[in-house]
Amino acid sequence: MKHLFTLLFAMVSTFAFTQNNPDFFRLGSLPYAYNALEPFIDAATMEIHYTKHHQAYVNNLNKALAGSKYEKKSLEEMLLVASRTGDAIRNNAGGHYNHTLFWNVLGVNQPWNSEMPVAKAITQQWGSLDSLKKMMNQGAMTRFGSGWVWLVVTPEKKLMVCSSANQDNPIMDAMKERGIPILGIDVWEHAYYLKYQNKRNDYLGAIWNVINWVEVDKNYQKALNDPFLKVIEKDAWIELKDFHKVMAQTFHPAEEGNFDPIRLRATEMVMKGEALKNGKLPASYDSPSIRKALEDLVKQAKVVQELVSKPTKNEKIMSELTKVHDAFHVVEGLCKDE
Ligand code: MN
Repeated sequence: MKHLFTLLFAMVSTFAFTQNNPDFFRLGSLPYAYNALEPFIDAATMEIHYTKHHQAYVNNLNKALAGSKYEKKSLEEMLLVASRTGDAIRNNAGGHYNHTLFWNVLGVNQPWNSEMPVAKAITQQWGSLDSLKKMMNQGAMTRFGSGWVWLVVTPEKKLMVCSSANQDNPIMDAMKERGIPILGIDVWEHAYYLKYQNKRNDYLGAIWNVINWVEVDKNYQKALNDPFLKVIEKDAWIELKDFHKVMAQTFHPAEEGNFDPIRLRATEMVMKGEALKNGKLPASYDSPSIRKALEDLVKQAKVVQELVSKPTKNEKIMSELTKVHDAFHVVEGLCKDE
């Protein structure tokens, strides 16, 4: 009886402990049996890949997140700032996201159908499914070491093929090619070594037999209308980020009474402002109101530049610099609202 109590207590407390951690990530269920993709992908590879490799990304992600400032963030939010999260979160958040997508786009009896919106888009952009396969296989074969090859919806709502190292993906700010991946092929050796050994090319030839085009099409249509695509577009606007950096690193010290940074960097601020104004604006942010706001921003930055070039009281610099800061927030605000 006493043992039964102990056992019950252990079960209840385990349950309670799990309930106290609502924010951690879990391995989703695999939508088919391990042997469903035979003979193209063998059951042993699937089982190890899913229960060991993917599970390890999830476990290590939870471990890395515990007590960090990213604890309450969504997976997408973490990927977006992957260049700053540190390697443990970058690699394991990427690993969890990428494998979840990978299981989702594999399957049988969900073949390519030329009437699907994604099929039409691929055909329109590259001529045929064969061209897409060639491009993706080429990307996979030239990826040195471990990585992925992706079919991506870009912020311009075009399709793009690219590849990444390790567990990076095009959502990450660490990558040059940005967008929402709708199909990914894992080219780590753990994805094919048991059956194909070093023959990555044979694995790539086989995997196209088990692509679930119904899911790829769903991913495509979802990505086209996903507000997150605009978030990525804005994040990929390098000139805006560059200006933001010099703004933050001069305005905030000035607020605290340190005017050295703005006295040193006012010219840099004007140059970054010019680059922002004259650079290519992301398509969905290009509007007369944004262009006007960027004009105002540069004009006001020049006022500050003029002031610091001669003896000027800090109070005067502060009031004009505050106007640059306000102008920047007008730009930022316009980016949010549209
Ligand atoms: Mn993998």
